[in-house]
Amino acid sequence: MTRLVLILGDQLSHEGAALRAADPSRDVIVMAEVMAEATYVRHHPQKIVLFLSAMRHFAAELRAKGYRVAYSMLDDPDNSQSIAGELLRRAEEFGAQEVLAMRPGDWRLIAELDAVPLSLTQLSDDRFFCSDAAFAAWAKGRKQLRMEWFYHEMRRKTGLLMDGDQPAGGQWNFDHDNRKPAKPDLFRPRPPRFAPDTVTQEVLRVVAARFGDHFGRITPFVWATTRDEALAALAHFMTHSLPHFGDEQDAMLQGDPTLSHSLLSPYLNIGLLNPAEVCARAEAEWRAGRAPLNAVEGFIRQILGWREFVRGIHALEGPDYTARNALGATRSLPPLYWGAKTDMACLSHAVGQTRDLAYAHHIQRLMVTGNFALLAGIDPAQVHDWYLSVYIDAIEWVEAPNAIGMSQFADGGVVGSKPYAASGAYIDRMSDYCASCRYRVKDKTGALACPFNLLYWDFLIRHRERFEGNPRMAQMYRTWDKMDGERRATTLTEAAGFLARLDRGETV
Ligand SMILES: Cc1cc2nc3c(=O)[nH]c(=O)nc-3n(C[C@H](O)[C@H](O)[C@H](O)COP(=O)(O)OP(=O)(O)OC[C@H]3O[C@@H](n4cnc5c(N)ncnc54)[C@H](O)[C@@H]3O)c2cc1C
Ligand code: SF4
Repeated sequence: MTRLVLILGDQLSHEGAALRAADPSRDVIVMAEVMAEATYVRHHPQKIVLFLSAMRHFAAELRAKGYRVAYSMLDDPDNSQSIAGELLRRAEEFGAQEVLAMRPGDWRLIAELDAVPLSLTQLSDDRFFCSDAAFAAWAKGRKQLRMEWFYHEMRRKTGLLMDGDQPAGGQWNFDHDNRKPAKPDLFRPRPPRFAPDTVTQEVLRVVAARFGDHFGRITPFVWATTRDEALAALAHFMTHSLPHFGDEQDAMLQGDPTLSHSLLSPYLNIGLLNPAEVCARAEAEWRAGRAPLNAVEGFIRQILGWREFVRGIHALEGPDYTARNALGATRSLPPLYWGAKTDMACLSHAVGQTRDLAYAHHIQRLMVTGNFALLAGIDPAQVHDWYLSVYIDAIEWVEAPNAIGMSQFADGGVVGSKPYAASGAYIDRMSDYCASCRYRVKDKTGALACPFNLLYWDFLIRHRERFEGNPRMAQMYRTWDKMDGERRATTLTEAAGFLARLDRGETV
C-alpha cells in the first residue's frame, strides 16, 4: 500500500530520517506550502522566500532522484492551507493510510501531527549531535543545566577538537582571546550573495503579492536556496571569515552588519547544511594551520555547544516554555521594534538591519534588542513573537530558548544563570553606535542620559529580591548601595519618566 512521507520546510536534507526510510518504489513524498505555516507569525518576507524557494528546489532534486513528490503550491486552488489538511488530502488521493514524518521543531506542529487521523509515525530528527533522549539523560539529576558542561561532554563524545582525551590546545574555551571591539575595514570579506534564479524569482513574486505588508524588505534577496549554494557559502566562510571569527564575535559596527559571522544558521536550520560537516570543516581549517584555535573553538562551541544545548532545552522543557514569564514583565512591545523612529542609535541600527536583511548577529539580538526588552520589562511572549517573525533563521526550537531564556530570563534561569542585562557602557565598548547617538552614553542621569544606563539600574532594583543573592550579581548591588542617595533617586525617577514616554508612544 502507498505510504506518505512528509517533508517539512525545515527538513530539506537528503539524509533526514524520514527520507532515509522512504521507499521510492511505493512511497509518495508530501511537501506543502500552506498559509498556516506562512502566517502563524508575521514572518519577514525574506524568510518566507527562503523556505518556499528552498522547498521547490528540494522537491525538484527529489524528483530527479526518482521519488514521486506530491507538492502543493501556495496558490493551488485545492490546497487546504494546513499541513494536516494536505496530509488528509494526499492520503485520499493516493489511497494511503500510513504517514512517515520526522518530528517537527515546534510544539505547535508536533500537536497538529499527533492529531491527524491517520497512522502517523514521527521519527526523531537525527540531524543533531545529541538526541532528545541523550540530552534528557545528561540533564537528569543535575541541579542546573549549564551549556559549558554540556559542551565539554559533546567534545568528548564527538572527538571534535580533542587530542586524545584532552581538549586541543590544552583548554576547552578560548573566549578570553575573543570578544574584541572591531574597526571598520573596507577589505573585510563580505558574505557571498546568490542571484535569485527563475524559481526564486517566481517565489519572490508570490511572496511580494501575499506578504508584502509584513515587516521587512523583500529585496535584495541574496540567500542561498539550494544545498550547492549553501556549500558555496560554507566554503566562502571557511576561507575568508573563520580566521577572524573569534576576535570579532561580539563586535558591532554600523557600516558592517555581518562582520566575520558565518550567516550559516538558516542553512543549518532548514537542512541544507549538516552541523557535523560544518564543525568538521572548521576543525580541518585549524589542523591545516589556516585558522587560529581561538576562532575555530569559538565557532564550533556555537554549534556543538549552544545550538545543541538549546535544542535539548526546547525538547526537555515542553510546550509551555514559550508562555513563561518569570520576571512578570507586561509592557507591550514598542513600535520601534517594527521600525518606528527611535533616537537610540543602537536600536535603530539593529532594527533597521533586521528589516533590510532579516539578519542580525548574536550580540545585536542579545545585547541590543534583547537587552532593551529585558530592561524595559516587555512581555516575553511578544518578544518571542518578534524574534520568531523577523529573522531568517527563526524556528521555535532554537529561537525560543534564546529569546525566552537567554535574552529575557523569562524561564527563571533554565538557560542562563543570570540575566544578560547591561548598561550603555557595554554597547559603547563593543560598537561604534554611541558616537552617532542623540543620547550620551557617558551620562548616567540628565536629559540626554543613555536610556540603557537608567533602565539598567531600574531593572536591578525592580528585581532586587530575586537577584541580589546571585554571586555573579552581588557586586552590582553593592555598587548601587554605595551610590549617592540623590543620584539613586534621580536614576529611578528618570527611568520611570523614560518608560512612561515609551508607553505613551512618544519617540524615545
Ligand atoms: C534573542 C535571540 C534570538 C535568537 N534566535 C535565533 C533563531 O531564531 N535561530 C537561530 O538559528 N539562532 C538564533 N539565535 C542565536 C544566534 O543569534 C544565531 O544563531 C546567529 O546570530 C546566526 O547568525 P550566524 O549564522 O552568522 O552565526 P555565527 O555567529 O556565525 O555562529 C555560527 C553558528 O552557531 C550557531 N549559534 C550561534 N549562537 C547560537 C545560539 N545562541 N543558539 C543556537 N545556535 C547558535 C548558529 O547555527 C550559527 O549559524 C538567537 C539569539 C538570541 C539572543
Ligand atoms: S548612547 Fe545608549 S542608546 Fe545611544 S547608541 Fe549608545 S547605548 Fe544605544
